Amino acid sequence: MISDKDTICAIATGTGSAGIGIVRLSGPEAIPIAERLFRGKRRISELNSYTAAYGHLVRGCDHKGSIGRGGSGEPLSGEAGLSVSKDRQEEVLDEVIALVMRAPHTYTTEDVVELSCHGGPLVLNRVLQELTAAGARLAEPGEFTKRAYLGGRIDLSEAEAVMDVIAAENESALSASLRQLQGSLKNAVSELREKLLYETAFIESALDDPENYSLEDYADRMRTVLADCTGQIRGLIAGAEEGRMLRQGIRTAIVGRPNAGKSSILNLLLGEERAIVTEIAGTTRDTLEEKAILGGVQLVLIDTAGIRETADAVEQIGVQRAKAAVETADLILLVIDAAEPLSEEDTELLRSISGSRDPAEKGRTTAPILVLLNKNDLDTVITAAELEQLLEAHGILCDNAGTKEVPGNKGTSTDTSGSGQRTGRVLEISAATGEGKERLAEAVQGLFFAGKLSDSQEQYMLNARHKEALQDALDALMRVSDSVDAGVGEDFYTIDLLAAYEALGRITGETLEDDLADKIFREFCMGK
Ligand code: GDP
Repeated sequence: MISDKDTICAIATGTGSAGIGIVRLSGPEAIPIAERLFRGKRRISELNSYTAAYGHLVRGCDHKGSIGRGGSGEPLSGEAGLSVSKDRQEEVLDEVIALVMRAPHTYTTEDVVELSCHGGPLVLNRVLQELTAAGARLAEPGEFTKRAYLGGRIDLSEAEAVMDVIAAENESALSASLRQLQGSLKNAVSELREKLLYETAFIESALDDPENYSLEDYADRMRTVLADCTGQIRGLIAGAEEGRMLRQGIRTAIVGRPNAGKSSILNLLLGEERAIVTEIAGTTRDTLEEKAILGGVQLVLIDTAGIRETADAVEQIGVQRAKAAVETADLILLVIDAAEPLSEEDTELLRSISGSRDPAEKGRTTAPILVLLNKNDLDTVITAAELEQLLEAHGILCDNAGTKEVPGNKGTSTDTSGSGQRTGRVLEISAATGEGKERLAEAVQGLFFAGKLSDSQEQYMLNARHKEALQDALDALMRVSDSVDAGVGEDFYTIDLLAAYEALGRITGETLEDDLADKIFREFCMGK
């Protein structure tokens, strides 16, 4: 299968200048193609797998199958064959280390040669050009990993995890992707599929061979299996939100009336001056988005112009965006100027936030609010206790100690129960002195990822494809559950059990028919 594939090449390291840059070749012709360009004491084809050789890459004047040793395999000149051949001039492209890895124990499962060159864009591109002239093709994005998948070395979820490892922008995202690369999602999905397949095979066997397999009281057993599997799938779906936040950061809307200190809070979190800070109310005209790491958690900070009715056209656009930011946020930071009495604007804001989401809306989460009593370096006139009362009055479950059991929240911001109860905490802070930043970091950690960033075994980097597949599997299992309740025949179960099995298989890229046939044959000895 692999032998009829072509040989691909690409620069495997980043763009820009670096000490070393690696050009990778993979495919049936990887070794002969590299050998055509390589001049060293040893020939590439003589190297054992996972051994490296020092030498030079050269460019011959004639590319048409006769570069370097050509078909004869003989050096063109001297021990290293470096510069001058009898009949053609060879130009040295770079001094390199060639590493040979032989199929099947390689990243792609094919023959792979990695050429460690000097890391300049010009030199690497010239090497690439010579390799293509010698018969390799430029790889498509992700093609090496795709070959690893096609070669059966990794499944789809692991292939996707490779991309996530590369794209990870913070520690949490990196560790979750690395776990996924080691098969964490594959294992979770495979375990579920195994259970569903077993039940399907059992039902089919019992229908075919009632003397040996009994379906008496099977509905009860089906209920137990369904409860177990749907629970696990729901857990995976809930974890998907966490995965998104891990990967892309927690979308954090910073809201508050003009001059409360939103831009100053943003700057405090960013650790540098980004937003324009002025004393004139309404200067933050638009929304800004910036990334910050707070206590190991990545936040995507959305600074808003404050949610309020305004006649100013420019500011109105900002106000609309602020409302949209609150709607889509995972976390709301409501900034209040504690040195001033609470204004009508402050309470209006709180009111609009507390009513901004319809808890009945399916699939929506209810973002928690952290109220930041800002400017506590000044004489403050608002207390945390007052604010907590105000939050409770607006139907926001106030959990200042971070200990209350929030229905359905399981310690994370993801409200899987659909209770829709928004939670809030009040924190004193000073954007001017930085006092309270630690408390804010702790509060964010506590609200998200169940406060257990270091022990995040349950988090998977689920993408939209995974989520859709999980949802389809869940829907199919709910249909089985309906069938059980309706008391229909067991043969009806199998259609939806297989639909769930197939949906889960889409995550790992596995197929159905062969598996089922194997399973039935192996475990249930049909027709014995
Ligand atoms: P925004 O309109 O909500 O973005 O508010 P700004 O961040 O522009 O801040 C408004 C004013 O309050 C500026 O003069 C800031 O320097 C000041 N300010 C913000 N935070 C603090 C703080 O914690 N302490 C003191 N003393 N002043 C602050």
